[in-house]
Amino acid sequence: MSATLLMGKPIADKITEELKKEIAALKEKHDIAPSLASVLVGDDPASKSYAGRQQKSAVAAGINYQLHELPGDISEQKLIDFIEELNRDSSVNGIIVQIPLPEGIDEYKVQSAIAQKKDVEGVTPANMGLIVYERPRLCPCTALSAIKMVESTGVDVYGKNLTVVGRSAIVGKPAALLMLQRKYSATTTVCHTGTAKAGNLPKHVGNADILIAAAGSPELIKGEWIKEGSIVVDVGFNWVGGKAVGDVEFEAAKEKAAYITPVPGGVGPLTVTILLQNTVEATRWQLE
Ligand code: NAP
Repeated sequence: MSATLLMGKPIADKITEELKKEIAALKEKHDIAPSLASVLVGDDPASKSYAGRQQKSAVAAGINYQLHELPGDISEQKLIDFIEELNRDSSVNGIIVQIPLPEGIDEYKVQSAIAQKKDVEGVTPANMGLIVYERPRLCPCTALSAIKMVESTGVDVYGKNLTVVGRSAIVGKPAALLMLQRKYSATTTVCHTGTAKAGNLPKHVGNADILIAAAGSPELIKGEWIKEGSIVVDVGFNWVGGKAVGDVEFEAAKEKAAYITPVPGGVGPLTVTILLQNTVEATRWQLE
């Protein structure tokens, strides 16, 4: 039997409708319209196009979007000074630094400079730490999108086996930590290149009632490994011969899974909406 497709857009549209109501309430109660400052360093075309999509979605939802374009040869310290200015600016509720940064600039140092309550991508150590303590507030957008995809199935994940493939700080690790929270209580395994080198990926994927693939390796996960009746969330986005391909061998996997996200059209369309949701949450946090 072929899996039910989990599409990002209808979920994103539903969240956007809720956000519009929350934004209207903020306006009425506090006379405030959430504002997102986006910092783009240099002229990476992918980052420019991503910022353009963010701007369109933000404006459509009623969020102000200010794009700050800085020269590619800016020093790390000058960039941090700029972020600190945004931290002090009371008209800015959220700050996003477009990645990648030019060579020689430490992304960790720059992102750590963002004020905790304005960190709408959930990339600061302070916000990451809150996830460990099961008090998440602003979480990495892609990890949260993957969780929303799982939630959209309505399947109770309590005690089920979750395998996450990938341990990056912005996707794999936060997705695993979020699903470890008591409210989900998934039994969580995290795989990485060490798992693959030891030949253990098929075993851990085959054991997964829920699979979150975030490796950035086209069709790394073979359809035959997928557990019958599982939920497959493919975060991977890879270009192969001019075509977007996920980390999971889609055609074969959809014959085994009960639910699966396609690439493109699955997790991708949701991440910008989660960024906007985080901007509204950041605004509320600043008002507390
Ligand atoms: P990343 O920083 O490169 O991390 C990839 C992780 O996958 C690493 O932990 C790596 O293991 C692991 N990995 C790589 N190849 C592997 C293999 N052959 N076997 C087992 N593990 C392997 O990537 P990321 O930023 O987390 O992004 C992951 C994917 O998600 C990418 O395709 C990216 O384009 C996509 N993405 C999509 C969105 C969206 O909006 N849809 C947003 C962000 C990212 P080691 O730690 O051992 O190196």
